[in-house]
Amino acid sequence: MKKFFVILLCAVFCLSLAACAQNTEETVRQPERKEAAENTKPSQDAAAPTPAPTPTPMPVLKSGMQNEAVRQLQQRLGELGYLDIEEYTEKFGPATERAVRLFQRQNGLSEDGIAGEETLARIYADDAKECALPLAGIRIGLDPGHQKQGNSEQEAAAPGSAVTKNKVTSGTAGKNTGTPEYQVNLAVALKLRALLEENGAEVVMTHETADVDISNQERARIMNDAGVDLALRLHCDGVDDASVRGAMMLVPAGEYTKEIETQSRAAGEEIFAAYLEATDARGRGVIARDDQTGFNWSTVPVCNIEMGCLSNGEEEALLISEEYQEKCAQGLLTGILRCFE
Ligand SMILES: [Zn+2]
Repeated sequence: MKKFFVILLCAVFCLSLAACAQNTEETVRQPERKEAAENTKPSQDAAAPTPAPTPTPMPVLKSGMQNEAVRQLQQRLGELGYLDIEEYTEKFGPATERAVRLFQRQNGLSEDGIAGEETLARIYADDAKECALPLAGIRIGLDPGHQKQGNSEQEAAAPGSAVTKNKVTSGTAGKNTGTPEYQVNLAVALKLRALLEENGAEVVMTHETADVDISNQERARIMNDAGVDLALRLHCDGVDDASVRGAMMLVPAGEYTKEIETQSRAAGEEIFAAYLEATDARGRGVIARDDQTGFNWSTVPVCNIEMGCLSNGEEEALLISEEYQEKCAQGLLTGILRCFE
């Protein structure tokens, strides 16, 4: 009887041990099976044509946002050459939006300035395209009007013409400050040159300092010889009526400029519109002229911006200020960019 109890006890003990072991196995095995089930999934997905490029979805980034992801986006756009700012700020402002738009334009994406899923995937792709400078391969001529001393010697106003004009006049001057026109023209031209070069253009200037003696005919020849794609002459107006203000664009017309007339007018209209947008200057129109030596000797497309009236005190104050000159240069750049889009 005692022996029977021992056997029974042993049997119960063994059974419970087995049950215990089974339970243990069950609890250990369960997650293994789950893992195995998960592991089979990606191998099925691998057969799909496009595996997701990044394991975690990137949040949409847009104007007004401020966070670390924006800073990373700025850094990446900077590395690719689409964004050029002093330091990365975490803030999705106008410069970041412009850079996103530029990336989208150059990469055939719809241009909304929002870094959505597709845009972000392309920006962070290993083979993301570096920014192509919009004016790469374009040669722009800048002729800042006048110089320190005018030259009243005469030269033909057009090839083969008996009409002569001063080689170069001394230009107008500010009503209140007497600031000579050549100073404003040269200052804006130098600012514009820097902007054009940033955008990849090759810039040819008739002169970089005011102490020169270059006639209008010679200025046209410099542009012709350089084979510029577009020549821009920069001037300011001086008129008798001091209340008159505003900018004007002169374009070539007449028998000597037939070859370049259409292209010159198109460029003039584009640049003038952008100039008015940037400066808020009053527009006095795009005017065709057949009496300009600088036009008549030109064999390359050319136009002449009259940036404003130095004979108007208020406009004079703007034109001689560094800040407004920056706006002028920026507007002219935008117009030139549109000409070569
Ligand atoms: Zn002038």
